[in-house]
Amino acid sequence: MASSKEKSFRRIKRSYTWVSIVFFVIAFIILAVVINAALLFFTFYSINSKVDNQYERVKTMAGLYDEGKSSDNQGLIDVLHADSPDYVVLSESGDVIDSFGDNTLSNVGGSLGFFFGSRDVRVYEDTKNKTMRFFSGGMLIPDIVLLQMALGTDDPDFYEEENLEKIDATDVANMPIWIETKLNGGDRFIAKGNIQIRLVDAIILQIVAFALNLFLLFFLIFRLVRIIREIIRKRRMNELFLVDEVTKGNNWMAFLLKGERILKKSKNAGKRYAMVHLVIVKYRNYCMCHSLDEGRFLLRRISDLIEQSITKEELSAHVSSSSFVLLLEATDAESVKMRLEALVEKLKTLDIRGNAQLQAGHKDTFHTFCFQLGVCLINPSVVDGKKKKRMDAAIEQYYNNAVTAKSTLEVTDDDGIAFFDDKLMEDERWIQTVGDHQQKALDNQEFVVYYQPKYSPDRGELIGAEALVRWQSPDFGFVPPGRFIPIFEKNGFITNIDHYMICHVAEDQKKWLEAGMNPVPVSVNVSRAHFAESDLAEQIQNMVDEIGTPHELIEIELTESAFFDDKNAIIRIIEQLKSFGFSVSMDDFGSGYSSLNSLKDMNLDVLKLDAEFFRGDADPDRKEAVVSEAIRLAKRLHMRTVAEGVEVREEVEFLKQQGCDMIQGYYFAKPMPGEEYEERMKEKYHMPEE
Ligand code: C2E
Ligand code: CA
Ligand code: CA
Repeated sequence: MASSKEKSFRRIKRSYTWVSIVFFVIAFIILAVVINAALLFFTFYSINSKVDNQYERVKTMAGLYDEGKSSDNQGLIDVLHADSPDYVVLSESGDVIDSFGDNTLSNVGGSLGFFFGSRDVRVYEDTKNKTMRFFSGGMLIPDIVLLQMALGTDDPDFYEEENLEKIDATDVANMPIWIETKLNGGDRFIAKGNIQIRLVDAIILQIVAFALNLFLLFFLIFRLVRIIREIIRKRRMNELFLVDEVTKGNNWMAFLLKGERILKKSKNAGKRYAMVHLVIVKYRNYCMCHSLDEGRFLLRRISDLIEQSITKEELSAHVSSSSFVLLLEATDAESVKMRLEALVEKLKTLDIRGNAQLQAGHKDTFHTFCFQLGVCLINPSVVDGKKKKRMDAAIEQYYNNAVTAKSTLEVTDDDGIAFFDDKLMEDERWIQTVGDHQQKALDNQEFVVYYQPKYSPDRGELIGAEALVRWQSPDFGFVPPGRFIPIFEKNGFITNIDHYMICHVAEDQKKWLEAGMNPVPVSVNVSRAHFAESDLAEQIQNMVDEIGTPHELIEIELTESAFFDDKNAIIRIIEQLKSFGFSVSMDDFGSGYSSLNSLKDMNLDVLKLDAEFFRGDADPDRKEAVVSEAIRLAKRLHMRTVAEGVEVREEVEFLKQQGCDMIQGYYFAKPMPGEEYEERMKEKYHMPEE
């Protein structure tokens, strides 16, 4: 049921929205951190490598200072002072021992060992010019205001285009820092250094960082909008796929998905369930009497009542116009039956007046409904005597079983509950097996033609026969047609059997003709399913002509029920068959369908009276009256008559008196294999001994 729709729905459902949101947010955060960290790293790296240069300079200065002091060489100290550097010498305890120039050393310093391998470079801020800050971890970053200071402005609109235009490629920001190195005696030599940054580089870096972060922000907004739209789309789709248009409750698809979830839950593995197919008998009649809208109103009310009657752990859905499906928790068949009977009682007492009648306050227009239910019990899954962790969730299979169980109920107006049992299971399996084996059986010629002779009632002369199929299966033994013909009629394979039978009968007839045997016409059954093919008559003619059998030796039997299909098509095929020289008979006349009317329109050659005419408990006089009138009717329509299923001499006598042309029944002969039938042909006359 709706399998391709169901598959695509499951596929879409699987793309979990929340998972994708979480995944996206995490990916976004990682991306933002990586990009900004890369920018920071780049900034630190370039500044700290400048610090490294300054460190080399300070070390040279410290060397000169050490050398000058240790050898008391003022000349060296003068060389050091020639560049007028600012420096301070501190003792290990932090006391100022010596200084030169402007001492603006702050006392907070950090280690920059991170960027300089094993060298532990200590750096201090300048208290006058705080253009460099320490970041935790000992890293230096330029202060944001350094650019402003370099341009001599504290204008908040510093980044205005006109200001930026003022910056020349050669504009440089000077950022003083103090760098420490150790003197030979253990004292600390700390000198003021100057880091220069090209303003253009700093601004480009800032613009790149700003642009990247802006891009990330837009990307985040864009993706979030898409995700929100996706959520809305899924909500709508859920409604479209899972909500029943009429009842606004579950539809079949929702039942399938939710039912599967219930059955697959490991905590439910040990429970028993019942799948119930509930049908409102004659719902269509109700719609015809009232209106489709009233019908829908009724379905909504029934759906509500069912919903009220089940627990939260159970499930129901509206499946087709007149049917619902339920998944109930069950302990045993008896308790399910009682529960369903109570539900039916409740449904029957539902004040099922149409919406319009309720509104108009009609009190006397009750409509009583009947409900038929098929039930399939679902047992806990057991493998090798042990309960499985999860139950088999073959919802469609269970539902089919419930439908099969319901189909065993009589087509009446009565309420009824039927359970899917072993016998039905066996039947279902057999239907499956037959379907699986049919083609192989046909290819291997496992179907055998049996012949049942037709005799004249007066002298017992062989004047015809009916070909009946038998299945001689190497796997299943001898299979009577009642066990496979109805299955072939349903699955469509019957048309192959009909072809097969016509060919085999035509071949046999030709063989007997060539052997000089005087064969009589043999009738072959053609199923009603075959009448959908408009060129049926030509197909039959071609088959028989290919074999080369005279057409008058083949008769085509149509069952009475076929006459209810497209009447004009059937009339045309009958006329064609007759024009090709085949005779055509109506099979099973009187077996239930009234086809007197068809007789009026269809120019048939033979009327086969169904065996039912002779069976049953009806008064013999009445039976005889019906049979004799049927024969009289056939005669008036210039049709020959065959009485089927004749088993006793009295019936033969009676039919003879009434002028019946042929008798086909166990009294004269049962259906028999071809060789036996050949003997009958040679014998020609056959009168059973009394
Ligand atoms: P049908 O066409 O009405 O065939 C007559 C059935 O009545 C045959 O059953 C036959 O064995 C049985 N019969 C004949 N005389 C008597 C009698 O005196 N007493 C009783 N109790 N039964 C009698 P069979 O061969 O089992 O076939 C059953 C049905 O299967 C046939 O009913 C026909 O509808 C179908 N069928 C059989 N062979 C073919 C075939 O080759 N093609 C098609 N389409 N249907 C076939
Ligand atoms: Ca028949
Ligand atoms: Ca028949």
